[in-house]
Amino acid sequence: MQIQSDTLHTKLKEFFGFDKFKGDQEEIIKNLMAGNDTFVLMPTGGGKSLCYQLPALIMSGTAIIISPLIALMKNQVDAIRGFSSDNDKIAHFLNSSLNKSKLQEVREDLISGATKLLYVAPESLTKEENIGLLKKVKISFYAVDEAHCISEWGHDFRPEYRKIQPIVQEIGKAPIIALTATATPKVQSDIQKSLGMEHARVFKSSFNRPNLFYEIRPKVNTEKQIIKYIKDNSGKSGIIYCLSRKKVEEMAELLNINGIKALPYHAGLDAATRAANQDKFLMEDVDVIVATIAFGMGIDKPDVRFVIHYNMPKSLEGYYQETGRAGRDGGEGKCIAFFSQKDIDKLEKFMQNKPVSEQEIGKQLLNDTVAYAESNQCRRKVLLHYFGEEYENDNCGCCDNCVNPPAHFPGQEFVTIVLKLVNGMKENFKSDHLANILGGINNSIIKSYNHNKSEYFGIIPGRDAKFWLAAIRQCTIGGFLFKDIEQYGLISITEKGRNFLKDPYPIELTEDRTYENTDDDSDSIDSGLKHHPAEGAGDETLFALLKETRHSLSKRLKLPPFVIFSDPSLEDMATLYPITMEELKNCQGVGEGKARKFGKEFLELIAKYVEENEIDRPTEFIIKNVGHKSLNKVFIIQSIDRRMPLDEIADAKNMDMDELYTEIETIVNSGTRINIDYYIHQIVDEDKINDIYDYFKEEATSDSLNEAMKALGVDYSEEEIRLIRIKFMSELGN
Ligand code: ADP
Ligand code: MG
Repeated sequence: MQIQSDTLHTKLKEFFGFDKFKGDQEEIIKNLMAGNDTFVLMPTGGGKSLCYQLPALIMSGTAIIISPLIALMKNQVDAIRGFSSDNDKIAHFLNSSLNKSKLQEVREDLISGATKLLYVAPESLTKEENIGLLKKVKISFYAVDEAHCISEWGHDFRPEYRKIQPIVQEIGKAPIIALTATATPKVQSDIQKSLGMEHARVFKSSFNRPNLFYEIRPKVNTEKQIIKYIKDNSGKSGIIYCLSRKKVEEMAELLNINGIKALPYHAGLDAATRAANQDKFLMEDVDVIVATIAFGMGIDKPDVRFVIHYNMPKSLEGYYQETGRAGRDGGEGKCIAFFSQKDIDKLEKFMQNKPVSEQEIGKQLLNDTVAYAESNQCRRKVLLHYFGEEYENDNCGCCDNCVNPPAHFPGQEFVTIVLKLVNGMKENFKSDHLANILGGINNSIIKSYNHNKSEYFGIIPGRDAKFWLAAIRQCTIGGFLFKDIEQYGLISITEKGRNFLKDPYPIELTEDRTYENTDDDSDSIDSGLKHHPAEGAGDETLFALLKETRHSLSKRLKLPPFVIFSDPSLEDMATLYPITMEELKNCQGVGEGKARKFGKEFLELIAKYVEENEIDRPTEFIIKNVGHKSLNKVFIIQSIDRRMPLDEIADAKNMDMDELYTEIETIVNSGTRINIDYYIHQIVDEDKINDIYDYFKEEATSDSLNEAMKALGVDYSEEEIRLIRIKFMSELGN
């Protein structure tokens, strides 16, 4: 079917309300509608869905859309129904979530021809009964969305995707359109082979995202760097990716405790919580989502301003997809990843239980990720090269290596050596092996090939294997060498390389970055943080002055001194000399509320003191610690906000009441205001509440529980006193 451009534009406007096609959309749709297999490689957000939705609505018959995500299917179907007025029959999905009667409805609409788009999960497609059904339907074309799931080299391999081609054969022939945002040449060829569409016309858009800033940092004081970054960029939306669920939970909590609104997202949370957290992020009730990779497929928030990788991902495909969620609107998009060799080692360890072939693939993907991190070349160039695209500029001006250019040195001599070595060998080898020859590494593999006898073995004293590996990678990215992914990454020389040998010219190289192996970032949060213990005040004179201020303030406000600031808080002030509200909040026991309510006079006092005594203030940025026992804090605060009875909270977290109260006390003492009246009124009499409250307000000289019990007598239980003390401290102190 040949279709006129005018007609297509009219339909585009009619169904989607758009005036223009984006990128290659029009060409793609025309190609498909002419009955040709079509392969679309377009970055995330490029507008792939429309490439099958529009032709499906126009063509006769039903389009079968194979898509991996059940959750997204419903959204897509709803969206289509929305475009096409009130005809619900026009789009359906077929997956395991449907009940009998719904299934019957879908069947009828399919047979009657009312349905233009049918979304199916690959699992459902393989079911006999569905195949039988689809055989009776006139099919306009098949669309395979997220087609990289076919390839073991993609970051999201799904075995069921392998079965698509034979099933399509069985159901009946029709053109196929495959779409993906993963564009490595290897994945691309896997997809085409597996779907039997080697002759398809390929539409590949540029994968360059000019507005994204790529940066790799060594993994040192990572939590601190992350908190500082977010605080310096407050009000902006961002995503932090961590590898483990546990780390996600810890990070979200750490951020909250440091005054950043963040929520966790991972597959271990129930569906309702996940949906709620995602919504809060979309609606900007929270600024930051901390997530495992499970987050982000299909979310379309245009103004994500930063994507932080706490761990290096397993592959550059994954990295690219995840960083791709930043700056979709073309505005700022900062992508920061933290690199440590230890994380890489951990990832390799995880692979050990997998079949050998899978391990091989996993290792190669990981090697490419490490090479990217260690590279001193333009990151954009390295990334795009990885996706089979050459970036012509030498300086993109928008990555760490281009903004802070590393030292370059004349490299003609070294490139010549590398190319001569590769050119002169009968077989091809991997880059590691070549680097080992040039660097003079006398290991058993080198010996087994007699390469330790080669004239190239250790050819330049003082240039080690790491140096040569960097040179080899740069020769590959520069197009002098070719790395054959199909052949385990074997390296061969290219036409450009041979020409260089015939007629050499000056060329620049850089050495790779080295990341010191840092020990301070294990998976436990505490190890990276230096929380200063309250070992007495650093500055006795200042401490005494602070106490005086507290005393007079307590008189004026008619509040017990301990409600204003605790002694440990004053000790911290006398050690850290805070002079701004932000800095004040770094003192233990000082939260947002307390700082605002009581902080002003203390800050003025300290500022004056610092100036008069010419004190060098510690400029180190200090963050608040989560502490071992407090992993449940966020949950507790949220549950109290939702007015969950305290005993149920304790149950949910497997705590006894004593532990829970201790936890809540810590929360309150560090300045978070919470309201547990709903619970207190259930279990404590009104009179008792007033008595205990008055005691703390009028009589108490400290917040001691023992003193309170002595003063109040046996009619008041410890639990009652604790509850009211929490109420009191929260209301007056925070
Ligand atoms: P992909 O699947 O490639 O990641 P989507 O199909 O989800 O991208 O589309 C991304 C966004 O682009 C969507 O919000 C979509 O409505 C929008 N879009 C697609 N085509 C057009 C167009 N021709 N004009 C304007 N917006 C478009
Ligand atoms: Mg899509």
